[in-house]
Amino acid sequence: MTTNDKSTFEYWQASAEKIKPIGQAFISGKYTDSITGSVLDSISPIDSRILGQIANCDRLDVEYAVASSREAFERGCWSQAAPTERKKKLLRFADIIESNREELAILETLDMGKPISDALNIDIPSVVNTIRWYAELIDKVYGEIAPTEVDALALITREPIGVIAAVVPWNFPLLMASWKFAPALAAGNSVIIKPAEQSSLTIIRVAQFAIEAGIPAGVLNVVPGSGEVAGRALGLHGDVDALAFTGSTEVGKYFLQYSGQSNMKPVSLECGGKSPNIVFSDAADLNTTAKAIAAGIFFNQGEICNAGSRLIVHEDIKDELLERVVLESKNYQPGNPLDPATTLGAMVDEQQTQRVMSFVTQGKEEGASLVLGGKRVNPVENGCYIEATIFDNVTPEMSISQEEIFGPVLSITDFKTTEQAIDIANSTVFGLAAGVWSQNIVTAHSVSKKIKAGSIYVNCYDHSNMAVPFGGYKQSGFGRDKSIHALEKYTQLKSTWIDLTPA
Ligand code: NAP
Ligand code: MG
Repeated sequence: MTTNDKSTFEYWQASAEKIKPIGQAFISGKYTDSITGSVLDSISPIDSRILGQIANCDRLDVEYAVASSREAFERGCWSQAAPTERKKKLLRFADIIESNREELAILETLDMGKPISDALNIDIPSVVNTIRWYAELIDKVYGEIAPTEVDALALITREPIGVIAAVVPWNFPLLMASWKFAPALAAGNSVIIKPAEQSSLTIIRVAQFAIEAGIPAGVLNVVPGSGEVAGRALGLHGDVDALAFTGSTEVGKYFLQYSGQSNMKPVSLECGGKSPNIVFSDAADLNTTAKAIAAGIFFNQGEICNAGSRLIVHEDIKDELLERVVLESKNYQPGNPLDPATTLGAMVDEQQTQRVMSFVTQGKEEGASLVLGGKRVNPVENGCYIEATIFDNVTPEMSISQEEIFGPVLSITDFKTTEQAIDIANSTVFGLAAGVWSQNIVTAHSVSKKIKAGSIYVNCYDHSNMAVPFGGYKQSGFGRDKSIHALEKYTQLKSTWIDLTPA
């Protein structure tokens, strides 16, 4: 066994040791300290080690970034470039990210605790795919001509909006950022990213790659720092033309206020979820179903907006399914995320670990039956690890059934009738996603129609493709990431009337 063998823990540990993360802001094509010099510690949840410092940007840094983005936008070096030109540079950007895949995957793992295998095989390739998809799209989007009277010509064109601020969460740090910046940049906007405090390192690194790819300075800026200061300053800024937010429902509501209190900028919100998997007694194969249910909640430590956090199962098959779900869940054992064999990594930080554990305590106090896990464990000393946890006999009113835990905690509720299943599924303020498991085509279709959620997975969970939009109903937000529909958030329609009456 050598340290060149990528299937070994040693390889990734040794590679991680060599990385010196950059924590500065990236504005106008250069790394820069915050104007006050203030910094925040970047902490690894693997073992609570300090990885370095990130710039703690405040209102003045945001002013600087917005001015830089505005200048780039008005200069037209990007916004007025031919779509084929933007495509070429975005494709180069994607290539550079791909060729630095290992370093970025390690940074993601160190910073937020996800398993290296996932960072390497899912997160970074998905970022590359996202950028390529929008690069390839942008020179294939046509305008329209309206069916008006013959003596007029009305052109309907899409124009970039201007300066877009994207405030993003920590669960898929670079991927969630790319779902914003890829379509926004492809459309010709300038973009400012405010990453989450817990996980700023990859987007900071990647901003420099944009310059190497030939994307002009100021077109992609990054301002790390706290949400309450840097995020708020972006939200309230009068020269930010649109806000794209992914994060909690609670913070999403602030962005609507920021818009109302400032320049009425459009806001798109990708917020929380409490997604159900509804399993009917005629589900095809309970082993496959159990595997998907366990993956649906334990992938990424349950820190997924569309985690299938509620299993709603017909009473006739509950015991059988539960047994299999427990068996599948045992494949998710907390371990060092730098070990390629690990499938359940560290929670993002101490605060989130404590928050999830307080839900476990509440679940017990409310009378749910703990059937698996439920403990904080220490596969690495001083780290943030929680076992894959399952509660049975959960009633819809319990807090573990209503609130987004954002951790590896599955709650199980049984039902007798289809109407009851639908009512339970729709009983939260969220509406991001749902799984429906049945062989009966009528059940599958009619239940899918009645579930108030942006994505429905029938006999599967968390299928995804860049061509398919993603986003929520209800308090899971509005606006869609991914697909051609994401362009709607980053462009505005212009109607141009040309009078054709002969002179
Ligand atoms: P969060 O606490 O809402 O934070 C999201 C972002 O908002 C962070 O950059 C945060 O900065 C910033 N922020 C916090 N308070 C702010 C304020 N008062 N004003 C302006 N910005 C502020 O969410 P999170 O804990 O990072 O991420 C988890 C949440 O994201 C979950 O609810 C999850 O469901 C949601 N999510 C949704 C989707 C989707 O597509 N629907 C995808 C992924 C995640 P700080 O770093 O300083 O807190
Ligand atoms: Mg961190």
